[in-house]
Amino acid sequence: MKIHEYQAKQILAKYGVPVPKGSAAFSVDEAVKAAKDLNTEVCVVKAQIHAGGRGKGGGVKVSKGLEAVRENAEAILGMQLVTHQTGPDGQKVKQLLIEEGMDISKELYCSVLVDRGKQRIVLLASTEGGMDIEEVAANTPDKILKVFVDPSVGLRPYQANELAFGLKIHETNPKLIRPAASVFMSLYKAFVGEDCSLVEINPLVLTGDERVVALDAKLTFDDNALYRHKENLALRDRDEEDPLEVEASEADLNYIKLDGNIGCMVNGAGLAMGTMDIIKTYGGEPANFLDVGGGATQETVEKAFRIITRDPNVKCILINIFGGIVRCDMVAAGVIAAFKNVNLQIPVVVRLEGTNSEEAHTLVRESGLGESLQMADGIQQAAQKAVAAAK
Ligand code: ADP
Ligand code: MG
Repeated sequence: MKIHEYQAKQILAKYGVPVPKGSAAFSVDEAVKAAKDLNTEVCVVKAQIHAGGRGKGGGVKVSKGLEAVRENAEAILGMQLVTHQTGPDGQKVKQLLIEEGMDISKELYCSVLVDRGKQRIVLLASTEGGMDIEEVAANTPDKILKVFVDPSVGLRPYQANELAFGLKIHETNPKLIRPAASVFMSLYKAFVGEDCSLVEINPLVLTGDERVVALDAKLTFDDNALYRHKENLALRDRDEEDPLEVEASEADLNYIKLDGNIGCMVNGAGLAMGTMDIIKTYGGEPANFLDVGGGATQETVEKAFRIITRDPNVKCILINIFGGIVRCDMVAAGVIAAFKNVNLQIPVVVRLEGTNSEEAHTLVRESGLGESLQMADGIQQAAQKAVAAAK
């Protein structure tokens, strides 16, 4: 689960990470009032959306004086902000962060995440802050420093110091090595304490008044651990999520929208991954990942159908169910019922194997749905049929 920058900054501040003074605003008047309360010469008006690259897209404006704050707040609130992370449609801005303008002498990059290959939490840092870190990683990977954390002892202060020196912070101001190392320790503690999957500070800045401040903050929670942090659950902003993914999560379906045209309905995450792979092997593109779970019922099958078909790109649906706990005839009945209830207009290819698959095949044969509902023998044939049907 992602949260907004201002929420991330509030959490990080609790762990001792210095952040600029500021507050959230939901209207132009609130923005002006927030700026007045800050009582600083320069304010920054920042769009709050769950995507980076806002600066380049016109969603971050340095503002001198309350009139400028008003103008910029008017321009940004309600705008459809397009960044390299939002996709071409962009995201509508409904909230702002009004914060004090900082006197920046250097912009650095720092993040904490899990390196799955190494099975370790890793701190990444770079002198190339403020810009697209993906570009730095691709073109100049040697400019990204990495520190791996041994989980039995956590991040050690010497590692935090090494990072600070590696970033050549002493060349800008030797006094800032200590506070920078302390920021790294705090970011690591926040990552572990809040069960995050990502903490990213870009830029982490060295200021003219000799401070190390998190100027931007991105924080993603590990969904599987959210039950341990009820207070974080309240930070969820459904407006920022794909509406289909929200609906699916409410129905306990694991659904991720993708760009292809073959809708997938599968039980089990591993089988779902395999199904997407085989679709690609036969030259097709999956429109989604969807795991209906081990204990799918007729209702979940119908719900899954409704969610898949709401994506206008879907030209065919491939159902791949292995009947273990779930019975194939129950799935078949669900599919047939859904066909009628959802008024499905696109072909469906089904591969049903396992418990009660004979009965399932009989149900499909006798459904009267003909070519619209095709049975496949094995997953290979199912994928071939689906790819052909989607063309
Ligand atoms: P994004 O990463 O979405 O573009 P950032 O919060 O990183 O948004 O802001 C983009 C740039 O705007 C920063 O790299 C920094 O140069 C400038 N900026 C952001 N916040 C402030 C601030 N409080 N004071 C001064 N400059 C800022
Ligand atoms: Mg940034």
